[in-house]
Amino acid sequence: MEEILFKHGFGFKKKFGQNFLSDTNLLRAIVADAGVTQNSTVLEIGTGAGALTRALAERAKRVVSYEIDRDLKPVLQESLAGLDNTEVVFRDFEKEDLAELEEYLGEYSVAANLPYYITTPLIMRFAEEAEKCLGLTVMVQEEVALRLAAKENTADYGAITAALAQRGTVAILRKVPRNMFTPRPNVDSAVVKVDFTKGGFAVKSSKAYKAAVRCAFLSRRKTLENNLVNAFRLNRETAKEILRAAGVEEGIRGETLPPPILGALADVLYERGIAGN
Ligand code: SAM
Repeated sequence: MEEILFKHGFGFKKKFGQNFLSDTNLLRAIVADAGVTQNSTVLEIGTGAGALTRALAERAKRVVSYEIDRDLKPVLQESLAGLDNTEVVFRDFEKEDLAELEEYLGEYSVAANLPYYITTPLIMRFAEEAEKCLGLTVMVQEEVALRLAAKENTADYGAITAALAQRGTVAILRKVPRNMFTPRPNVDSAVVKVDFTKGGFAVKSSKAYKAAVRCAFLSRRKTLENNLVNAFRLNRETAKEILRAAGVEEGIRGETLPPPILGALADVLYERGIAGN
């Protein structure tokens, strides 16, 4: 892989989070983690030099891979030569309309070694907007992985943890040391699997859930009651009554509540016309 990059005079761009993989065993392990089969359509974000793309294409029915950096075009023409089930789209994934893309893909899974500078907003977007996505198997910085899979009442637990937990299950599948990447980043990484087909729970309004989660983590040191008062401009009695209806004890801080309880809170806020309407 490095030879092809060198041959085409490619220079790594830090601003695009370009830390490439080339270890065949690791690439195969990620494809296995993603549960790719001959019936799978896979969406990759960040083709890079195409090492993961090729490993995915060898197992999947179809791979659609986005790459922002057009300088990789000649490299990919060579590294992905002969793959007839793979399409590289040279566009900024952040600017794509997800609903439109889903029309084009049908049911799909995401598998990617994500550019670190957009990891969190990207994952949030799939959690909140995706409708045909079965799940995400993504390489992220270890610190982000810990946040995605955190338990309530820990420092890592936050809005993104709660957003994902509502949609499915989250697990850290493997830790990947920094020396597996070229160029070598300053931190270690991990492969996280978010499965939208298992776990999760229903809420009356995803908008209300988002608002409830935002409120719970508005000020981590304050009680949920105080955050409710501040976030929704409620009087104290109404805030107390909402907590009772959601089955939350007084004096509790939002960060101690497991996601399904945040779901119950969201439903109460929705039913009362306070959020999500
Ligand atoms: N998949 C390759 C691998 O594992 O070796 C490359 C992974 S590298 C961490 C991330 C890739 O995402 C880079 O090639 C970078 O240029 C690309 N990228 C960064 N921002 C992007 C964006 N907004 N849309 C599409 N691709 C992007």
